[in-house]
Amino acid sequence: MRNSHSLIILVAFLLFTCSCQREKEVKRKSLIMNTTVEITALGENEELVDSALEHAFSEMRRIEAKYSLYQEDSVISRINHAAGVKPVKVDDETLEIITECLRISEFSEGAFDISFAALSGFWKFKEPPERLPTSAEIKPFLERVGYKKVKLDTSSHTVFLSVKGMRIDLGGVVKGYAVDRAVHVLRKAGVMDALVNAGGDMRVMGRYRGRAWRIGIQDPRRRGSLLGKISVEDRAVATSGDYERFFMLAGKRYGHIIDPRTGFPASGCQGVTVVADTADFADALATAVFVLGAKKGLSLIESLPGVEALVIDSGGMTHLSSGLQGQVEFFQTRKTRALSTWK
Ligand code: ADP
Ligand code: MG
Repeated sequence: MRNSHSLIILVAFLLFTCSCQREKEVKRKSLIMNTTVEITALGENEELVDSALEHAFSEMRRIEAKYSLYQEDSVISRINHAAGVKPVKVDDETLEIITECLRISEFSEGAFDISFAALSGFWKFKEPPERLPTSAEIKPFLERVGYKKVKLDTSSHTVFLSVKGMRIDLGGVVKGYAVDRAVHVLRKAGVMDALVNAGGDMRVMGRYRGRAWRIGIQDPRRRGSLLGKISVEDRAVATSGDYERFFMLAGKRYGHIIDPRTGFPASGCQGVTVVADTADFADALATAVFVLGAKKGLSLIESLPGVEALVIDSGGMTHLSSGLQGQVEFFQTRKTRALSTWK
């Protein structure tokens, strides 16, 4: 009896490993939303996987155009142009994304806020300023910031920025959303195992050759080097950092995530990685935690079911949420502190 049991297990194992080995790995890259998007997918029919990947990239390009800040006819440009003038009619997809953004603003107490964009003029990372703006210069722009001034009307399907000069920018969530859409397209095309990575905002489906996908976490202060890795299945992992877009002024680093409450770049973290079920949520939460800083950010993460985070604070100390304890394989010795040890 025991022998036949072992035999069945052995045969099942061999069949499983054979089918894993038969799977072809297809990897493609494309430049979308100013970032290199890479999709890795596995399947026995390479042609089918290839065409699924093309569809996934097209879907991501559709989202890029629709929510672009730079295209005059994008829905975001139309909403911004009508600020303080009139509500703008939008479709279900846009209404859903903006509703989700406002929900995240609400529970992050305004740390994540798509209306931060009224301040964008002060923080141009391609042309760094010669001096910092003063609080007095920022103040009139700060008055145009605030998610409560973004009025959604689900019955008339409209979005209204209620103050003139307001702007919204979905940059903190749209990459994650595009990743989710790519996963949806891949799944519909029959792909079971894949990883979609949009410059650090990623989501995995299924497994990689019979094991969990392994995701590297970028070291914020050592370009191109990873500080560790985590194994995930059917989850999204998004990272926000101060190392991709920033400028230095008088020895201090100013990154592209703005604290909507002060108008200045947030400075409490070097990097934040969030694990969640969907990439849009992980993406937005990584931005929110970055603004909140390690302590408040991790309390927010602990209050949300099914969400975990790794935070590297401005001093380089690594903090983990409770569900990530023991789950990160660090490549370097790091100063790590669990939230529970915080005084
Ligand atoms: P990345 O674009 O590198 O993935 P993030 O997901 O952290 O980085 O998003 C940063 C982008 O989010 C900024 O470029 C900007 O468009 C937008 N953003 C900046 N500050 C905020 C904020 N407080 N709330 C919402 N979005 C923000
Ligand atoms: Mg983000």
